[in-house]
Amino acid sequence: MAHRLGIIGFPISHSISPQFQQAALDHLGAKATYRAWAVEPDGLAAFIDELRSPKVLGINVTVPHKEAVIRLVDEVDEWATAAGAINTIVNRSGILTGHNTDGAGFLRALREAGDFEPRRCRSLVLGAGGAARAVVLALAREGAVEITIANRTQDRARRLCRVAADNGLQAQHISLDPKALSQAAASAELIVNCTTLGMTHSPEEHRSLLPWEQIPPTALVNDLVYNPQETPLLKEARRAGASVLGGLPMLVYQGAASLEMWTGREAPVAVMLEAAARAMAAR
Ligand code: NAP
Repeated sequence: MAHRLGIIGFPISHSISPQFQQAALDHLGAKATYRAWAVEPDGLAAFIDELRSPKVLGINVTVPHKEAVIRLVDEVDEWATAAGAINTIVNRSGILTGHNTDGAGFLRALREAGDFEPRRCRSLVLGAGGAARAVVLALAREGAVEITIANRTQDRARRLCRVAADNGLQAQHISLDPKALSQAAASAELIVNCTTLGMTHSPEEHRSLLPWEQIPPTALVNDLVYNPQETPLLKEARRAGASVLGGLPMLVYQGAASLEMWTGREAPVAVMLEAAARAMAAR
């Protein structure tokens, strides 16, 4: 029986998951197809119910459904519960389990593509949305010691600070005021952009929250934005002499973790990284 896999979102045409997941499945010789499904919010419940078919191994979930699917699956794992969001659903004999592999993908990208060990690190996280939450939880679990969360909406930053503190991470929040940002950046070993700033086609496509003069040359700057791969923040970081890491490795590693859950096999990450880079270059 040929198995079905895929990603749901709305819209979904921007996703490159079909390219790198299908490349992995083909490499493994798996009889399975992975495609993108545009699912509107009012069709979500019916779509999720159909995943219980024996033909379906599971799916990835992206914006805007990551939170809404929590109430539609049968079980939710510890990472997804803490993140308050699901990005992977696994179907086993009609029982749907929700997982969140964003944190694992972020950590693997940091270590393998960024050559950075987060244990005992001091970090500055820009943003306080869903991706920032996954990053903060992952850093807390790995034993990072201090975190500053900078966000436009202070209430959101305050709430994420509480999540960090509840998970044993000493946290403070600041606004996007340039002076406050500059002070927080000065002592950071790791700076992670979890905002949408710098994203192609967004209103803030050309904006970096930090100019190069405020980026320590000893820091690793990780931008989760992967389109473009060289974001305004990464350009500033390079100019400062800092190490840089784009968002593509995290995207691939979170997908690799999903693939391993669906197939029980080791993901061919080199094949996936190459297919993802090819898909980005073809845009
Ligand atoms: P989200 O929940 O919507 O959060 C968006 C964040 O960006 C919030 O902190 C928001 O601040 C901030 N923001 C948006 N517009 C802004 C502006 N004009 N000025 C200042 N701040 C602004 O989105 P998300 O899911 O966390 O995703 C964030 C980014 O991470 C996206 O670019 C996404 O593609 C990327 N991402 C990458 C990966 C990967 O695997 N590489 C995984 C997940 C996400 P407010 O709270 O003030 O609105």
